[in-house]
Amino acid sequence: LYTASALAAPTLRVGSETTFPPFEFVDVKTKQFVGYEIDLINAVGKKAGYNISVQSMGFDAIIPALMTGTVDVGVSGMTITPERKKKVDFTVPVFKGGLVAVVRQKDAAAYKTPAAIKGKQVCAQLGTTGQLKAEEISGKKARTFNNAAEAMMELRNGGCDAVVADKPVIEYFLKESRQSRYFHELPTQLTTEDWGFAVKKGNKKVLNALNSALVSLQKDGTVAKIHKKWFNN
Ligand code: GLN
Repeated sequence: LYTASALAAPTLRVGSETTFPPFEFVDVKTKQFVGYEIDLINAVGKKAGYNISVQSMGFDAIIPALMTGTVDVGVSGMTITPERKKKVDFTVPVFKGGLVAVVRQKDAAAYKTPAAIKGKQVCAQLGTTGQLKAEEISGKKARTFNNAAEAMMELRNGGCDAVVADKPVIEYFLKESRQSRYFHELPTQLTTEDWGFAVKKGNKKVLNALNSALVSLQKDGTVAKIHKKWFNN
């Protein structure tokens, strides 16, 4: 039996790497997906008349899943890059991000600037702009992990000398983790990056629906409200 509203609203299948707090992660109590981008895509779905169904996948699996049509939207802190724009289309920016480097607290004095990372072993999340930047500044292949928290654990265990990852995710980790005293974030931000929701190349119908919903949610203050909820500013 179908209800009238379920018939009326088509479903957007959302692909997301859901160990990326505070943007998309599993709430320990409710076991639901929560976070800034989860709230945002749910608000967009409501505005644009779509049900939202989030499925978890590896970050490097999202663009292939969009290309083959396994999912309709990628919501995963995804930086809009020229390389990715060859494969998928992006919405208007949904967040202003950027990368930072982290080292062990006990090594902090040796890393006054990111230039000190040259020749060192860096850990990063697989397939991210953090991996690319890590390899650029170290001049070496990065050791890759499924998420930033795993890369941070490897740094603490001595498996690498630095981690390069998204600043808001690193800062949330440092704020929430009981291990934060073992880490030092370098003060120089390495990049600034616009994040967007991604769709299959040429999927104008979904792209236009997402963009008009995002623009009206920006105008009516919903985006600011969601930002305030997760970042307290
Ligand atoms: N912003 C980074 C990128 O697009 C990392 C995203 C992520 O790990 N979810 O590569």
